[in-house]
Amino acid sequence: MTSNNTKECNEECGSCTSANQCNDAKKEEYLKKQKLKLKLSKIKHKIAIISGKGGVGKSTVTANLAIAFAMQGNRVGVLDADIHGPCIPKMLGLKGQTLKGSPDGELLPVIGRLGIKVASIDFLLQSDEMPVIWRGPLKMRLIEQFLSDIAWGELDYLLVDLPPGTGDEPLSVMQLVPDMDGVLIVTMPSEVSESVVKKSVTFAKQIGVPIIGIIENMSGFVCPDCGKKVDIFKSGGGHRIAQSLSVPYLGSIPIDPKVCDNADEGLSFLSENPTLPTAVAFIEIVTRTKQFLTKQTPQ
Ligand code: ADP
Repeated sequence: MTSNNTKECNEECGSCTSANQCNDAKKEEYLKKQKLKLKLSKIKHKIAIISGKGGVGKSTVTANLAIAFAMQGNRVGVLDADIHGPCIPKMLGLKGQTLKGSPDGELLPVIGRLGIKVASIDFLLQSDEMPVIWRGPLKMRLIEQFLSDIAWGELDYLLVDLPPGTGDEPLSVMQLVPDMDGVLIVTMPSEVSESVVKKSVTFAKQIGVPIIGIIENMSGFVCPDCGKKVDIFKSGGGHRIAQSLSVPYLGSIPIDPKVCDNADEGLSFLSENPTLPTAVAFIEIVTRTKQFLTKQTPQ
């Protein structure tokens, strides 16, 4: 029953003749869902970037893929859902910016180079030393607000940078975005990373979200002087795992010290060094991701 109506509530407020007079909590929930649905309907492709463990370069991959998509003329947004370790703002040169309200009550994303729209908890924190000590429901609420209250507008791609592992945030995002196009799984070639990447694959399969593919980051180092490739952390693990678990392999990204330097300085590695092997690897991953999405979307 609703609180002020006598007829049975079927939670379909859109078709309920008593909706105007109803003040049941379920109506609020319904309206929230509708708002989120409308917001997400304006975003053509939603892609989550996940990894089994931290430090494999997941945020680096997210930031560079965002630039690569935007360089190809796409409208791109990045949702930094790594609430405890947000680093997308720094990597995209947006450190110190804040989220501001719009006259119609929405939150405006911070807009970076090439028009990339970014939302991150980092824009709400007063200092870098301040840790976010939150439990699951609060994190879910923030992610929900970022998805439904940010003025994303029309986008071709929304990239969601998730914290490592298979905890609250990845689950929240997958629940809130039921039409997620798929996940990109980032790993590095060490055996330690290889063993945890399988968990990410199983996670995606269990919750039924398509796996766009595995990316092996920090896959060898090409000497800028002699051109010889040195496999600092071994190589080929990502490819092997992809084959053994029958999921697509999207490519290997070599180590390039400029990736790290540019991220630290908030510069765009891709725009600064478009012909380096690491930059070419990012572009190839964008091409393969687009091919995957084209196959998935009925024409
Ligand atoms: P994660 O998000 O998985 O925790 P980050 O993206 O923060 O990892 O990357 C960890 C560190 O490794 C950062 O300092 C980043 O600049 C560096 N890094 C990541 N990928 C590369 C690469 N291909 N070449 C050089 N440095 C890299």
